[in-house]
Amino acid sequence: MRIIFLGPPGSGKGTQAKLLRDDLQIPQLSTGDLLRAAVKAGTKLGQQAKSFMDGGHLVPDDLVISLIVERMEQPDCERGFILDGFPRTEPQAEALADALKARGKPIDVVINFEIDQARLVDRLVGRRICPHGHGEWHVKFNPPRNNETCDQCGEPLVHREDDHEDKIVNRLEAYRRDTEPLQAYYRERGILRDIAAEGDMDQISSRIRALVDAAA
Ligand code: AMP
Repeated sequence: MRIIFLGPPGSGKGTQAKLLRDDLQIPQLSTGDLLRAAVKAGTKLGQQAKSFMDGGHLVPDDLVISLIVERMEQPDCERGFILDGFPRTEPQAEALADALKARGKPIDVVINFEIDQARLVDRLVGRRICPHGHGEWHVKFNPPRNNETCDQCGEPLVHREDDHEDKIVNRLEAYRRDTEPLQAYYRERGILRDIAAEGDMDQISSRIRALVDAAA
């Protein structure tokens, strides 16, 4: 299965993508994670992307497209993948369609995370992330057991640079301007499925699973 998770920052895409990854045993491809890894490793791409990311702006299409197309060519993507945070613009969606068409393996379904956008600032400002990828918590809605440390490994949790309020405004603006139009793009192609992304996490994941199964 080739699946896209579409939704604003803070809508729970990443968390749900990891659950579905474990369920279906196909990789979750997060352009945000790939870009953060490139920044951390100090690669040329990382250096080019850093200032855009820190400011809460989108990284230029050509950089992100080559990164993800290269990743999709890895053998673990043979049986499918979940795209989390890509595409975010129409040129990215077009480039993805072209790359997959060339391989005869189009996108099966796009899950559109619907959420009241007024809640997103609170969800993002309080978000704290394990630096070793053990998950994320929220200072108010889902606090870790011990004072901002990871429940699994005990490392201090990270407050992402772009999860501060001044950057969040830019990220939500970029979503509304550049990414939201992709709902119409995929609806026209008959593969968009809406999901109410608020409430119980288990209920949301079973609704996603049902939509994915129906598209298989
Ligand atoms: P995320 O972890 O998905 O919230 O992404 C963090 C940041 O990485 C975004 O605010 C952008 O700066 C950058 N980014 C991630 N995915 C993309 C993409 N598909 N296109 C452009 N920029 C991206």
